[in-house]
Amino acid sequence: MNIYVIMKKTFDTEEKITLQNGKINEDGAEFIINPYDEYAIEEAIQIRDANSGEVTVVTIGGEEAEKELRTALAMGCDKAVLINTEDDLEDGDQFTTSKILAEYFKDKDADLILGGNVAIDGGSGQVGPRLAELLDIPYVTTITKLEINGNQATVVRDVEGDSEVIETSLPLLVTAQQGLNEPRYPSLPGIMKAKKKPLEELELDDLDLEEDDVEPKTKTIEIYMPPKKEAGKVLQGELDAQVKELVSLLRNEAKVI
Ligand SMILES: Cc1cc2nc3c(=O)[nH]c(=O)nc-3n(C[C@H](O)[C@H](O)[C@H](O)COP(=O)(O)OP(=O)(O)OC[C@H]3O[C@@H](n4cnc5c(N)ncnc54)[C@H](O)[C@@H]3O)c2cc1C
Repeated sequence: MNIYVIMKKTFDTEEKITLQNGKINEDGAEFIINPYDEYAIEEAIQIRDANSGEVTVVTIGGEEAEKELRTALAMGCDKAVLINTEDDLEDGDQFTTSKILAEYFKDKDADLILGGNVAIDGGSGQVGPRLAELLDIPYVTTITKLEINGNQATVVRDVEGDSEVIETSLPLLVTAQQGLNEPRYPSLPGIMKAKKKPLEELELDDLDLEEDDVEPKTKTIEIYMPPKKEAGKVLQGELDAQVKELVSLLRNEAKVI
């Protein structure tokens, strides 16, 4: 099987994030594989091991995304592709990303493309569905189980705590939800092997794309941190007095009633 994972390098949102000139300050930030993409990578490896074939992990980013690609190779992917837009593009949005990926996949004969349900930084959940639409293949989002039988796929997807079972056919794009599997940690031999696995680097030119073809359709106006949480207030005294004070606080201070 010809299996692909689309992977995004993201900020580690567990670490402290600071802003500088309206942008996230990359200097002190930690970067990781988008956690939902780790589920996609694990699932791709398991499906390859059960059906044979190979797994290629693809990312759009700068030179430094090589680190996350090597991690994916160390987990067990066979090949990596970095579509490096650093020299060609200053801005990009979900349109840009999915359009570039669609050009890459145009002649790839992919049986299965796996991605994350959502990126924990940008968080739009658009890239997977947009890519499938551009490639004109079926897609199922937020999946928690995937069974492949020949050309057929049975997929379970998470629908707000309930489950939906969908039958469809390959080629197929799916996006991974937490619970799909337990992503492995790269082993030491895996890390050693990853150094020798192929990592191809492409630029827009190689995909016959011009800057104008992928110009973003949206503009980010402002990025800001959420307001600091105030310390909580514990009301004291008789119950009647507490209720009166609570109503007064909700009306006059919080202004929610
Ligand atoms: C050239 C370029 C410049 C950009 N410049 C900026 C900028 O200045 N400021 C800014 O805030 N953002 C920038 N972005 C990021 C962009 O706005 C979005 O973050 C990106 O398009 C993905 O959208 P999302 O984060 O909502 O991901 P989602 O749609 O939530 O991601 C879902 C899944 O799609 C896949 N995916 C997402 N992104 C990629 C990727 N890059 N490569 C491979 N697979 C992917 C992953 O599987 C991911 O789990 C840029 C992107 C590009 C391509």
